[in-house]
Amino acid sequence: MTTAIGVVITDHIVAGRLEDQRLTGQPLRYPADSDELDALAAIPGGELVELLATQIAALTANDTVPPRPAPDAIGVAVPGIVRNGVVEDSPNLPQIKGMRLASDLTKVLAARGIAAPVHVANDADAIAAGVAATRGQLNKLTRVWTLGNGIGYGRWPYIDGVWEGGHVTVSLDPRERFCGCGGLGHLEGIMGYRAMRLRFLDLEPEEVFAQARQGDPRCREFVDLWHRALAAATASFIHLAGPGRFYFTGHSAHFIDLPVLRAHIESMVKMGTLQSFSLEVLPPDDETALLGAGVSALRALAS
Ligand SMILES: [Zn+2]
Repeated sequence: MTTAIGVVITDHIVAGRLEDQRLTGQPLRYPADSDELDALAAIPGGELVELLATQIAALTANDTVPPRPAPDAIGVAVPGIVRNGVVEDSPNLPQIKGMRLASDLTKVLAARGIAAPVHVANDADAIAAGVAATRGQLNKLTRVWTLGNGIGYGRWPYIDGVWEGGHVTVSLDPRERFCGCGGLGHLEGIMGYRAMRLRFLDLEPEEVFAQARQGDPRCREFVDLWHRALAAATASFIHLAGPGRFYFTGHSAHFIDLPVLRAHIESMVKMGTLQSFSLEVLPPDDETALLGAGVSALRALAS
């Protein structure tokens, strides 16, 4: 039996214990009872590492009869550019930028008597791994857009690279300036939750989508732009890596009108060999990412 601990840091932290790539028991969540999108923003990087270690320690505590096996690997998924255990950048969680998260967490865990290797992955890549594992498609290309404050792009199988899909340029309009990274015309500057609040200072994003349904012209225009932006970015990835499966998840995924999105993508992808793509909105759950973080960590052990 393989045992792994999966940890996911997005707008909140969740940690769970996986046995044979299945979640066992109740995942732990921080903060325990809040949907607030900025709950982690004010926590310094060092404290975040301690928080992670506390959750992992609770999941590995040898306090059951019979005692649980020690984990083979610990997988941590974080938003941002992750390479070789280092968070190279993280526009929506700036305090972890530059952090050697894998080695820092390994040290803190070692002090608590936990010796399993730590593998750090991008959160969207972890969700792609989790979707591929859940659906028995670990041998197929799986791509995921995560729609929250930040817009993440993940893919399984993992390949080295930057893959900041949320920061692809989808507009040449210099007024499109709401991206968390400061770049002009970015997908996240249109679709990101924080970006939407900056654009509509008088309306919450939920109200924007509701008023669009009721016919408000300004909101309708924006909701169309929102879908065209996602279509443009998806069409670009279809033109680069081919058609296939795209999944959408995260806080704002329920805003997606799939027929509208599909129609926009079809207007942008005209080559016949590229038109066999599929689109699916995933229900919001932390389990897929947890599973993916664990699967990625176990795969990293094997490679
Ligand atoms: Zn950006």
